[in-house]
Amino acid sequence: MAQVVVMGGGVAGHTAATFLKNWLGKEHEVIVVTPNSQWNWIPSNIWVGVGRMKKEDVVFPLAPIYNEAGIVYKQAKAVAIYPEGSYEVSKPYITIEYTSKDKKGQEEIVEYDYLINATGPKLNFGATEGLGIDSQIGEYTVSVCTAEHAKEANEKLKDIFEKAKNGKTQKILVGTGHGTCTCQGAAFEYILNIEHEARRFGIRDNLEIKWISNEPYLGDFGMDGMHLGSMGYVMSSKLLGESLFAERGIPWILNAHTSKVEEGRLEYELIDGSKGSEEFDFAMLIPPFKGVDLEAFDKDGNDIRDKLFLPNGFMRVDAEYEPKPYEEWKASDWPSTYQNPYYKNIFAAGIAFAPPHPISKPRKSPNGTVITPAPPRTGMPAGTIGKAVAHSIANKIKYGESGKLRAISMAQMGSICVASAGVGFKSGQAISFTVYPLVKDFEKYPGTGRDTSRTYGEIGVSGHWLKLALHYMFIYKAKLKPGWTLIPE
Ligand SMILES: Cc1cc2nc3c(=O)[nH]c(=O)nc-3n(C[C@H](O)[C@H](O)[C@H](O)COP(=O)(O)OP(=O)(O)OC[C@H]3O[C@@H](n4cnc5c(N)ncnc54)[C@H](O)[C@@H]3O)c2cc1C
Repeated sequence: MAQVVVMGGGVAGHTAATFLKNWLGKEHEVIVVTPNSQWNWIPSNIWVGVGRMKKEDVVFPLAPIYNEAGIVYKQAKAVAIYPEGSYEVSKPYITIEYTSKDKKGQEEIVEYDYLINATGPKLNFGATEGLGIDSQIGEYTVSVCTAEHAKEANEKLKDIFEKAKNGKTQKILVGTGHGTCTCQGAAFEYILNIEHEARRFGIRDNLEIKWISNEPYLGDFGMDGMHLGSMGYVMSSKLLGESLFAERGIPWILNAHTSKVEEGRLEYELIDGSKGSEEFDFAMLIPPFKGVDLEAFDKDGNDIRDKLFLPNGFMRVDAEYEPKPYEEWKASDWPSTYQNPYYKNIFAAGIAFAPPHPISKPRKSPNGTVITPAPPRTGMPAGTIGKAVAHSIANKIKYGESGKLRAISMAQMGSICVASAGVGFKSGQAISFTVYPLVKDFEKYPGTGRDTSRTYGEIGVSGHWLKLALHYMFIYKAKLKPGWTLIPE
C-alpha cells in the first residue's frame, strides 16, 4: 500500500487528494494535513466582505467529506519535511503539529511514499509595517483573503456605511499593501462591489473610494495585462479597467509600493522614487504572498531548504530558475510536471510552487524598491495543477517507473475568470474573461504573446449569474456530490 500525503486542503490540495482517492481506491492511503477544519471557496469571500453572503455560505467542514471519501484527515499544519527519512525513521516523512481543539499542539510523524505540497501562500502582512487585521500582524487595514478576514472586513465596512448614512464623508482605500503583491483581481472585485453597495444604499456621494496598486497600469493584474477579443474588436485590459473606474468615479494611484500603514494613513513610494501618503477611514489592502514556513532536513539532520524551496519559500520544481534579462524569458521556463528536481516523489501544486519569474516586467524605483506585481495565482490553474499532479502520482503508483508524468505548463494553460463588479439578480455585473495562455508566449503568439481568438472578455449581468453559478458548482464539486468528477477545475 502506497501512502500519499497532501499538505494543504485548499483548492489545489483538495482537488489532488479527492482525485487521488477516486483513482487509487482502498488499496492506497491518501492523507490530507491541513490546519483548517473548513474548506473555503475563496473567490466568494469578496461577497462576505460586503455583507452579501455570510461566512457560512462560503465554507463547509472537511471532516465529514474526507470521512465519507476514505481520505485520512489530520487537522494540523505541516512543520518539516524529511525526504530521506532519518536514522530513527527509514521512510521519508513530514512532521506535523495539530491545530484541532482536541489535539492542539501535539506533534506527529507522517510517513509518505509521495508528497504533495499544496500549502498555498503565507499571507505576509509583516512585510509592510502596520499592514494587517486585528487578529494578525498590524491592525490598521482589513483583508478578504480568508472567510474570517472577510467577515471582519464587513463588520468594519458596516460602520463606515453607517457614518456615511449619517452624512459624514468617509474615505475608502482598496488595493495592494506592498510593491510585490499579486491578487490585484480580488482587490479589484472588492472595490467594485463596495462601490456598487454604496450606490444601492444611496450613500455613494458620501464616500471617497480610491484604488492604490503596484501595477504599472490598471488591468495589468500581474500578467502584463490582456488584449481581449470582444464583439470583433480587441480591447486592452487597461482600457477596460480605466473605463470601469472612470464610470464609477474611482480615482487610482498606480506604480505604488505601500511602505507603511498607521491608523487612518498610509505611506507609499512610486516607481519614480517620489513618496506620498493617503488618509483613509477604511482600507482593504492585499498582503504580499510568500511560501509557508516549512523546514527541510536530510538524513543527517542538515538543513536542505535550498533543495526544496526558493528564498521566497515557494517550492522548487521543474522550472528554469536561472536569473536572466526580461527579454530572454521564455514560456519554456515555466514548469510542467511540478516535480522537485532533487526528490522525485515530491510535487508542488497551486500557489505553493515557485514561478520562475514575474510575467509583468520587473521594475525598481531609483531607491531600489521593487515595484512589480507577482504572477497571478488563480483558482483554475491551482485546481488543474492539483489534478495533473494527482494523475502523475497515480500513474507512478499503478505502473511503477514506467508510469508517465502528466505535463501541463501555465504557458500552455488557459484560464477563465469571472470578476464580480456588484451583486444583484438584475443590477449585478461581472467581467467574464478567458486568457490563453496564462503565461505569455511571444514565440508562438508574436505581438501580444497570447492567442487573441481565445483571450476575450465581456461585462454584463450574465457574468454575475455565471459567478454565482460557479460559487454553487464549485462548492458542490468540493463536497464530492454525485457527478463531481465531471465538473471541470
Ligand atoms: C479574495 C480572493 C478572491 C479570489 N478570487 C478568485 C477568483 O475569482 N477566481 C480565481 O480563479 N481565483 C481567485 N482567487 C485565487 C484563488 O483563491 C487561489 O488561486 C487558490 O485558492 C489557490 O489554491 P491553493 O490550493 O494553491 O491555495 P489555498 O486555496 O490558499 O490552499 C492552501 C491550503 O494550505 C493550507 N496550509 C497553509 N499552511 C499549511 C501547512 N503548514 N501545512 C498544511 N497546510 C497548510 C491552508 O490552510 C489552505 O487550506 C482569489 C483569491 C483571493 C484571496
